[in-house]
Amino acid sequence: MFIISHAASGYIAGKIISHHKKLDKYQQLFIVLVVTFSVFPDVDGVFSATVAGHHSILHTPVFWITVSCLIYVIGRKFYPSKNHIIAWGVFLGANLHLITDWITARTVGIQWFYPFITKNYYLYSIYPEKGQIPIYEMVTNPYWSFYMENKLLFGFEFGLNLIAVFILLRKINLSFKNESEK
Ligand SMILES: [Zn+2]
Repeated sequence: MFIISHAASGYIAGKIISHHKKLDKYQQLFIVLVVTFSVFPDVDGVFSATVAGHHSILHTPVFWITVSCLIYVIGRKFYPSKNHIIAWGVFLGANLHLITDWITARTVGIQWFYPFITKNYYLYSIYPEKGQIPIYEMVTNPYWSFYMENKLLFGFEFGLNLIAVFILLRKINLSFKNESEK
């Protein structure tokens, strides 16, 4: 999945969860964390030579479970009022990244059970040989055409971006309305 789509899915999830859960003054913090960490695992792309080779430990659940637990435990001492919000934001954002990468995998899957089982999991067939290109060539052909071949997945990803833009525009519109009513 492309980074912009990860950010979109993080924004949608953050909005939905923060709407249903009582987060009070930490609502914004929670959404920012979910969006940030729904993108963050792809940092390993900076250090990878190819698209298909960019899944490091940042793309494994065990890493993010450990990080979230550490944030929760350390936070109890240093920021006890919001340690659970921060830990949940990081956990949900990062795992949403893994789930959406698993759904939309084209060249590399997710190692759900790393380090116990190093098998790659993916929803549709993957073609690692198509991903032997540098990350920055993802938006050019032939990779782009290959990426669009699975219309269902491409539509799903495009749809996420549309929904995120819709929510964002609605929010901007509402805040304009509130401002003018003041
Ligand atoms: Zn990824």
